Amino acid sequence: VSFDERYAAHTPKSGELFARAGRVIPGGAGSSARTVKFGWKPYPPFIASGTGSRITDADGNEYVDYLLGLGPMILGHRHPVVTAAVTKAISDFGTCPGLPYELEIEAAAKVVEAVPGIEMVRFSNSGSEVVGSAVRLARAYTGRRLIIRFEGHYHGWQDTVYWSNHVDPAEAGPADAPRPVAAGPGVPLELTDTLIVLTWNDPDSFRRVMAERGHDVAAVITEAAVFNTGCILPEPGYLELLREETSKAGALLIFDEVITGFRFCRGGAQEWFGVTPDLTTLAKGLGGGFPVAAIGGSKDVMGMIAEGRYSHSGTYNANVVACAAVSATMDLLAEPGLYERQRKVGDRLAEGLRKLAADAGVPVRVDGLGTVFQVWFSDHPIKNWRDAERYANVDRFTRWYQEMFLRGVLFHPSQYENLFVSLVHTDADVDRTLEAAAEVFPVLAA
Ligand code: PLP
Repeated sequence: VSFDERYAAHTPKSGELFARAGRVIPGGAGSSARTVKFGWKPYPPFIASGTGSRITDADGNEYVDYLLGLGPMILGHRHPVVTAAVTKAISDFGTCPGLPYELEIEAAAKVVEAVPGIEMVRFSNSGSEVVGSAVRLARAYTGRRLIIRFEGHYHGWQDTVYWSNHVDPAEAGPADAPRPVAAGPGVPLELTDTLIVLTWNDPDSFRRVMAERGHDVAAVITEAAVFNTGCILPEPGYLELLREETSKAGALLIFDEVITGFRFCRGGAQEWFGVTPDLTTLAKGLGGGFPVAAIGGSKDVMGMIAEGRYSHSGTYNANVVACAAVSATMDLLAEPGLYERQRKVGDRLAEGLRKLAADAGVPVRVDGLGTVFQVWFSDHPIKNWRDAERYANVDRFTRWYQEMFLRGVLFHPSQYENLFVSLVHTDADVDRTLEAAAEVFPVLAA
């Protein structure tokens, strides 16, 4: 029996909803990352509800949820404290005063306290928005135009950064001097002149380009650990090199911590790896599942906004829902021992998967950091997107996703996404996942 037939029998109601959705919503889903094209074949499951680490589809099937809304549900679904804080704030006050208010200061002060590189912060609504602002702010601050970014990193859908993310490898040029490739149609190709795209974790090409063009570079933007090409950690010394070379050249270093922020420790990747950027973007995780994003940085750079020399505007910026969610989430994340405990839960899962795969004779690398990881079906180390394209067995990954899904474990069907362990996943969730995996790895080996 094919997967499609088993899936249809498992999720008939989702099938009906998908047909209905497709008549009024392009692709039947509100973001392209939820569509058939992105791997949700033959159609995405439709969700009825979520509680904590579990999510239930329209057919009543419950899953241990490692998709976590693609990252934001860091406290699990419907965390009662965050829900109550938001409900209270909007009942007492409203949603969108269009002027500053006290709760906004509270939310901002808590983010400043948590993230080492943030002395001042502004709130917006999505990661794409704040990345767009960060890039333009860096250009305004330095008076330069050139941006360096890396292949396989995703920084949202704005024209300035929607490049070289999972494009056709045949178009991408040589690894030591990649060609910028727009990530989709509609991006003005004139922007090619404003970009240098490099292979990540490759110190030599970075050093060479900075020696040649460093004086023209406004900013280097990077995921500080890459979670948009599965999970790839920086090689020792690599982030330090980015920091050193940008400082030397008078360019800004932007850490796009939309995923890594608050993920495996409260201060994000910059705290974990001990490298402080000039600008930081945050989103997923920041509001415990509510839509909010932030751009923050040194007083010097954010001073451009303070002095009115750079306009960061937005009708919905720092709305009451966002600030109430941030404030409550920051309090919860400050619980002593929380991250240590959850990294252990994640590590136990990763270790369990490694062992089960080895027992079944399936070569895998489980790469990541405690509460976020990916299973590469590869016996070769993956240091960047080019390695992933070359060495990771995507067909095996698809079967892994399919078999786990049918056994009640949910994660994204693309190997370029990852598994998120929330701060409320438990050892019981891990046990249930490992039980499913113990059945699935032998199927993959067959
Ligand atoms: N930056 C990174 C690192 C991301 O992972 C994403 C989204 O996945 C974005 C930016 C864009 O964020 P949003 O989807 O909220 O616009």
